[in-house]
Amino acid sequence: MRLDPEGRVEGVRYVPSPNCDERPGGCTAELLVIHNISLPPGEFGGRGIEELFTNRLDAAAHPDYPAIAELKVSAHFLIRRDGELVQFVPCGKRAWHAGESSWRGRARCNDFSIGVELEGTDRAPFTDAQYERLAELTRALQARYPIRDIAGHSDVAPGRKTDPGPHFDWTRYRAMLDQPPPRRTRRKTRAQPQRKQSRAGPFTTHDSRLTAARTAKTPRRQARARRK
Ligand SMILES: [Zn+2]
Repeated sequence: MRLDPEGRVEGVRYVPSPNCDERPGGCTAELLVIHNISLPPGEFGGRGIEELFTNRLDAAAHPDYPAIAELKVSAHFLIRRDGELVQFVPCGKRAWHAGESSWRGRARCNDFSIGVELEGTDRAPFTDAQYERLAELTRALQARYPIRDIAGHSDVAPGRKTDPGPHFDWTRYRAMLDQPPPRRTRRKTRAQPQRKQSRAGPFTTHDSRLTAARTAKTPRRQARARRK
């Protein structure tokens, strides 16, 4: 998996979203934010997510849509249930995925993050294909950008957001990143130091016990619809 100079992954389906702009001066991608989304909420495989991110969601198409149809939101990436990677915003630009947020005392996470949506909900496990694609994407991004941390939307907007939710397996994700990358990306020796660095930082908030404690306190949210 390779990125072009603008930060587009080569060979993946690209659905350009107008909901993006330039990163503020001096900002680059240092943080990966993991989300989940499904539209209609709890349903997989439809066009709703792509319609939302391109301002084409039909408010009349579902009872939950009027509340979100006018939102101007996006993410850099979506990983569908079958592992398909879709890109909406080049990584060099600022996507509008985190909303009001902060990480390590720094506000406005959109300025310095890359947003990855997993098609899913807070109530169901993610698929093997999604983990594999996410790990592959993460390695490619780490090789290109100085990603220091990987966090959930719920970590950068606690109390306001719950995604990626209790079913996202941080331990599994971390283990996949710690493994040697499968054949084709192994040649990227430059990625090695960054992967080592990322081990120390990204998952510090995702100790499984912390995740379990946080999950236990999180009230069950309804639709992913109010996500932004
Ligand atoms: Zn989110």
